[in-house]
Amino acid sequence: MSMKYRYGEMTWPEVKAAAALPCVAIVPIATLEDHGRHLPIDTDLLLCATVCELAASRAAGRCVLVPPINHGYSPHHMDFPGALTIGAHTLIDYGLDVCKSLAHHGFRRILIVNGHGSNTPFTDIIARLCAVETGVLAAAVNYWSAPGVREVADALRESEPVGGMNHACEFETSLYLAIRPDLVEMNQAKRELSHRPSKNYWTDLIAGDGPLTMMEHWSRLSGSGVMGDPTKATAEKGRALLEAAASGIAELVDEMLARESPPRVDHH
Ligand SMILES: [Zn+2]
Repeated sequence: MSMKYRYGEMTWPEVKAAAALPCVAIVPIATLEDHGRHLPIDTDLLLCATVCELAASRAAGRCVLVPPINHGYSPHHMDFPGALTIGAHTLIDYGLDVCKSLAHHGFRRILIVNGHGSNTPFTDIIARLCAVETGVLAAAVNYWSAPGVREVADALRESEPVGGMNHACEFETSLYLAIRPDLVEMNQAKRELSHRPSKNYWTDLIAGDGPLTMMEHWSRLSGSGVMGDPTKATAEKGRALLEAAASGIAELVDEMLARESPPRVDHH
């Protein structure tokens, strides 16, 4: 196949050729929502798309990069101006239709890369439904959970070990600083750890969540929209995190390519 990897830049014969070879279709998905007073509302989208672009460029010839699904599930953010949300069922149907279209054109492996925490249950469902309805190998991952990211984040981390990296935080702000520093207003960055962790409830992109998972309206949890400590963010940390996330996604592409799909057996 050609070394083109951006799906939208391909002609249909190039798409046909890519689908005929061992190839993973990468589908980024995010949302538009408030990210404090210091970051643009496209934070989840820009970060996820940039990680996927870098990963796909390294795995060129083994993947295609589908243009991102821009909109996601953000109803709990609607108290802050800017959030655009689509319904839970709309998101599932939309994502599934995109993945089923790829399967229809012959792609046998699909990796959904998510950039917005509250899309997580839905991207999991989309991958499951795609797998059972089309028979292709479909998977979903949050880019901050890609292999290798946790180790880098733990080594760089200066914010609270649980809660400092959540939303518009040290993690996301560092990445944005590495990608588009001109759009980050660091003088507006504010530390907020107001989500009130309790015995069985805590949340952190890197440290993970407690057994009690729940999502309240964001305005109950944060005054500025921040959850975490963006004042600890630097572009240098962001470059290391971007590198780790892109390497991790490229690793997942190769892992999916190596995975065999034995035929189903109907034991009736
Ligand atoms: Zn975010």
